[in-house]
Amino acid sequence: MGVVPIRHHFLLVLLSAAARSQVNPEMCRYPLGMTGGQILDEDISASSQWSESTAARFGRLDFDNGDGDGAWCPDVMSESDGLKEYLQVDLRSLHFLTLVGTQGRHADGMGNEFAQRYRIRYSRDGTHWVAWQDRKGRQVIEGNRNPYDVVLKDLEPPIIARYVRFMPVTDHSMIVCMRVELYGCQWLDGLMWYSAPEGHQMIYRGLDVYLNDSVYDGVASDRLTKGLGLLTDGTWGLDDFLHSPIYGMWPGYDYVGWTNKSFPRGYVEMVFDFDHVRNFTSMKVHCSNMFSRGVKLFRQASCFFRSQGEWEGEPVSFKPPADRVSQGARFVTVPLGGRTASAIKCRFHFSDLWMLISEVAFQSGSAVYNTSLTPRKRGHPTNALPGEDPTHKVDDSNTRILIGCLVAIIAILSAIIVIILWRQVWQKMLEKASRRMLDDELTARLAVQTQAFSFLRSSSSSSSTSSSSEEEGEEEEGGGREGEGGGSSGSSTYERIFPLSADYQEPSRLIRKLPEFAQSAENLSASRSARLLLQQGVGPDAGAPHYAEADIISLQDGPGSASSCSSIAAFSLLAGREATVREFPRDRLSFQEKLGEGQFGEVHLCEAEGMQDFLDEDAPSVERSSGGAPLLVAVKTLREDANKNARNDFLKEIRIMSRLRDPNIVRLLAVCVDTDPLCMITEYMENGDLNQFLHQLQLGEGPPTTEEEVEEEVVGNIVSYRKLMSMAVQIASGMKYLSSLNFVHRDLATRNCLVGRSCTIKIADFGMSRNLYRGDYYRIQGRAVLPIRWMSWESILLGKFTMASDVWAFAVTLWEILTLCQEQPYCQFSDEQVIENTGEFFRDQGKQVYLPKPACCPGDVYTDLMLSCWRRNAKQRPSFQEIHCRLMETQRSMLASA
Ligand code: AMP
Repeated sequence: MGVVPIRHHFLLVLLSAAARSQVNPEMCRYPLGMTGGQILDEDISASSQWSESTAARFGRLDFDNGDGDGAWCPDVMSESDGLKEYLQVDLRSLHFLTLVGTQGRHADGMGNEFAQRYRIRYSRDGTHWVAWQDRKGRQVIEGNRNPYDVVLKDLEPPIIARYVRFMPVTDHSMIVCMRVELYGCQWLDGLMWYSAPEGHQMIYRGLDVYLNDSVYDGVASDRLTKGLGLLTDGTWGLDDFLHSPIYGMWPGYDYVGWTNKSFPRGYVEMVFDFDHVRNFTSMKVHCSNMFSRGVKLFRQASCFFRSQGEWEGEPVSFKPPADRVSQGARFVTVPLGGRTASAIKCRFHFSDLWMLISEVAFQSGSAVYNTSLTPRKRGHPTNALPGEDPTHKVDDSNTRILIGCLVAIIAILSAIIVIILWRQVWQKMLEKASRRMLDDELTARLAVQTQAFSFLRSSSSSSSTSSSSEEEGEEEEGGGREGEGGGSSGSSTYERIFPLSADYQEPSRLIRKLPEFAQSAENLSASRSARLLLQQGVGPDAGAPHYAEADIISLQDGPGSASSCSSIAAFSLLAGREATVREFPRDRLSFQEKLGEGQFGEVHLCEAEGMQDFLDEDAPSVERSSGGAPLLVAVKTLREDANKNARNDFLKEIRIMSRLRDPNIVRLLAVCVDTDPLCMITEYMENGDLNQFLHQLQLGEGPPTTEEEVEEEVVGNIVSYRKLMSMAVQIASGMKYLSSLNFVHRDLATRNCLVGRSCTIKIADFGMSRNLYRGDYYRIQGRAVLPIRWMSWESILLGKFTMASDVWAFAVTLWEILTLCQEQPYCQFSDEQVIENTGEFFRDQGKQVYLPKPACCPGDVYTDLMLSCWRRNAKQRPSFQEIHCRLMETQRSMLASA
C-alpha cells in the first residue's frame, strides 16, 4: 500500500526538478543586446554596406542617433532573393532564440528604407549554416511596412545558434535598411546536435500519426545527423499524443517515436554532442506513457560517455519506475552521476510496442535556467549607447567584483526564497478564508446574495447593497495584482502571462497611434460605461485595457449600447434564480477515461452512482439512465496546485453554471467541494468539443438525397450543410437565452461548444483559454490572454465586452462552423496584424479585412447576417433574438426547397 504514494511523490519531485532546469520558451524572451549594447560592434558584421555610415554596427533596433546614418543598409540590391546580402550577429555562445525584431531606417524622418520581407540563417559552429523555416516549412518572414515601427516575429520553432544572419528579400532593385534585435536566453544545455533514427509513422484507428522529427535542422535520412529538432524545441507533447499544443499541427506532431519492430536489439540509440567538455548531473527525457495505445516510457536508459577519442567502457544505467496507473506524459530524470564528457550516447530500451519522446534536456555543472527577469549581460560596446547601465559592466579579470556579484546573487536568492515562503503561508490563510466562504455560500444554495454575481469590479464602489465584504475584498485584491504586471507571482498561473520587451505592440499602444481615438474616448467618457472603462485604466493615456476579469456590461436598450444599466441589476435576474446544485459524494464517482484538459485541470468521464437523486426535476436535457444504473457524467477537476485566483475562478464558473438552465447550455449537475480537489460535475457530451468534431468532418455535396441521410445528416465523416445550420441555430438559441439574462459570455467560439448525441450543441466554458487551443489566444504584456480573432474591435481596443461583442464572436463562430474548422480565423495574419486590422475596423475607412465568405455559405447569410454582426457600430449589430430568427428562417426555407 505504501509504495504507490512514495512513487508518486518521487515522480512529482522529478517533475518539479524538470521545470527548473528546462528551457522555457515563454520566459526565454530577453533582448540579447543589439539595442542595449551588450552585443559588441565587432560582433556585428554584414555582407556589404551602402556606405561607412550604414555599416553593420548601425543595425541595432531602436538605435537611431550616433555617428551612423540610422541603420545597416547593404550595397544596392539587385533582384535579391534574400540569399546574398545579410547582417550577421555573433552571440559568442549558443543561445535559444524565440523572437526577432526588425525596423527600417527612419533617421528622424530622413530615411524611408525598410525590409518588407526577410529570411534568417543561423549557425552553431560558424561553418554549417541552416535556413530557418517555420513549422509549416515557410522561410520568408513578413517584415516591416514602414521605417519606424518595430515588428516582432515569434520564431516557431525556436533557433539554437551562436551566429544569426538577417537576409532582406526584395522583388526589385531598391535600397533596404534594417535594424534588428534578437530575443532569447543562453542555451545552457550546450547541446550542438543529436543524432537518432528517424521517427516512424503509426496508424492509430485508421488515423496516420506522423512521429518523425519534422523540424530537424541537420541531415535527415534513415538516421538524423548533425542537427537539432523537436527534441530541443522547448515544446512538450500533451498527454494525448494525437493532439498538439500548437495550433493546426497533425496528430503526433510533438513527438519523435519509434516502434520496437524495427529495433531487433530492443533499444533506440541516440548520440548527443556538446559544445565543450562538461560535467553532467542529469538528463531529462519527456516521454508519452499512453499504455492503452501501446506507448510506454522506456524500460531502461544506458548512457556511455566520451571526452575525446573512444567511448568509455563503463555506462551509467537507470530504470525508471514503470507506471501503469497514469497515462500522463512526463519528464523522466536520468541521473548521469557527474560524469565528464563532450558527447553522450544513450540507449533507450523499449518496454512496449512504441516509445515516444518529445524533449530531451541536459543539466551540467551549475547550469540552471535563469527565471529572473534580468537579461544576460556580457560587456558593452566602446561607444555609449542609449539605456547603457554602467553598473552592469563586467570586468572578467576582476575576481573581486565577480565574488561580490556572487554574494549579491546569493543574498537576492535568499530574499526571494523568504518572500516565496511568506507568500505561501499568506496564500494558505487566504485559501482557508475563501473555502469557508464557499461552504457558506453553497449551503445557502449558491444564490443568496445578489452581488455575489457581480463581476464588474469597478462598479463595486457604487453598489452599496453589495455582496459580502469578504468576497469584494478578494476581487479587488485580484485586480490589484493584475495591475502589477506579469512578473507578479500573484497572477494566475494558468493565464500565460509574461513580460515581453518594451517594444511589444499591445493593443493600448495601437490605440494611442489612432489619432481619432482621443476624440471618441472623450465622447465615450460621457457615458457611464466609458467612465467604468476609464476607471479600469482604459483610455488614451492609460495602460492596457482591463481584460483580466469577467467584466459584464449590461445593455440598456438592446445590444450594442454599453450604458448606464448597472451590471448588478442585470445580474439580479440571474442571481434571483434558485440555484440548486448539491454536493455529490465523491466515492460514488468511478473514473472511466480522461476526456481532455482545460485551464483548471483535467476533465474525466465518470460513472456517477445514484446521480438521479441529485438531479432537478427540470433536467430534461440530461439523459437519465434507467433502472438506477450509474449515469455517465463529465467531471472537471481543479488541479491540486492551483493558486487562489484559479480557485476563485473555478468557483465563479460553478456559480455561473449553477444558474443557467437551457437546452443549449451545458448543465451543471452537482459539485464536490467539501474536500479537495474541487470538482464540478456536468452532463457528458459524448462527441467532445465542436472544433475538433467539425475538423474531422467533410461537407457532403448537395442536399441529402435519401430518407436516412435526411434523418442522420452526419454519415461517416460527411456532414450536410443543413446540419451545420442546425448547429448554428442551436448556438444562437443558447446565446439568446444568455442575452435574455444580460449575461456576456466573452469567449464564444467552436472550441467552447460541446457536441452531444445527435449533434446536440451546448455552449460551455464560462472561463477563458485552454491548453489545447493556446494558439487562439493573444498574450498581452502583464495582462490576460485574449481570443483576439473572435473579439470585436471595441473589446480589443476599449476592453468593452457587451452582448454586441458576443454577437461579433457568434459570427466568427458561424464562420468556423461553415468552414468546418479547417483553419483558424484570419490564419494568414499574425496576432499583431489581427490587431492592426482591428484598428482599421475602428477607423472604418474601408481598409478593414473581413473573414471571407465560406464556400458553402449562401450569399445572403454572409452579407445579411455575418457582415451585419461585424458592423462597427455595435448598436447596428443584430440581437441574438434576431439572429436566431433569421437562422430559423434560413433553415425553414432549406426544408421547403428540399
Ligand atoms: P474545459 O476545461 O471545459 O476547457 O474542457 C477541456 C476538454 O474536456 C474539452 O476540450 C472537451 O474535449 C472535454 N470536455 C469538457 N467538458 C466536457 C463534457 N461535458 N463532455 C465531454 N467532454 C468534455
